[in-house]
Amino acid sequence: MEQDVLTTLKILIIGESGVGKSSLLLRFTDDTFDPEQAATIGVDFKVKTLQVEGNRAKLAIWDTAGQERFRTLTPSYYRGAQGVILVYDVSSRQSFSKLETWLSELETFSTKHDIIKMLVGNKIDMDKREVSKEDGLKFARKHHMLFIEASAKTKEGVQCAFEELVEKIIQTPGLWES
Ligand code: GDP
Ligand code: MG
Repeated sequence: MEQDVLTTLKILIIGESGVGKSSLLLRFTDDTFDPEQAATIGVDFKVKTLQVEGNRAKLAIWDTAGQERFRTLTPSYYRGAQGVILVYDVSSRQSFSKLETWLSELETFSTKHDIIKMLVGNKIDMDKREVSKEDGLKFARKHHMLFIEASAKTKEGVQCAFEELVEKIIQTPGLWES
């Protein structure tokens, strides 16, 4: 039986340039991966309907479209978002060390104080690793975030990252019920 769409949720993807934000989004929405994709040529946002715990939720997922390089994400990017995916690259300690900066920007601009946060350690398919799973988990716990390691290239963890985030949003009624 066809179910009604529950609601439209606004989800953000943030993190340093080159960590794989656009790749994770395209893997999730179109099930594609383009290794030639020039870093940071992003889409603005994509819409996808997801079935979660018997509910259909329509997701509007916003990508930074490369603006993060210039640190010019505007308040309207953050406005009204119920969920955020904060991405680092497990092969780049530098990308991990910038997570606090992203969280404070989120805190500054987010209009919902109980926004649900998912930390994603991307590129686990690579031989090189500079951030252990343990360190990712520790950071996530400290900042009350969900956590998963993933690879946009092999698909591992990608679907889960979005599903678990949306599940948690739906379990937090005050967040999405208008
Ligand atoms: P963004 O700047 O955060 O949007 O990053 P992109 O999605 O543009 O990805 C930056 C580069 O990393 C591109 O060359 C991608 O092909 C590559 N990349 C993204 N995700 C993965 C991954 O999971 N594994 C590997 N090996 N490369 C990835
Ligand atoms: Mg991008």
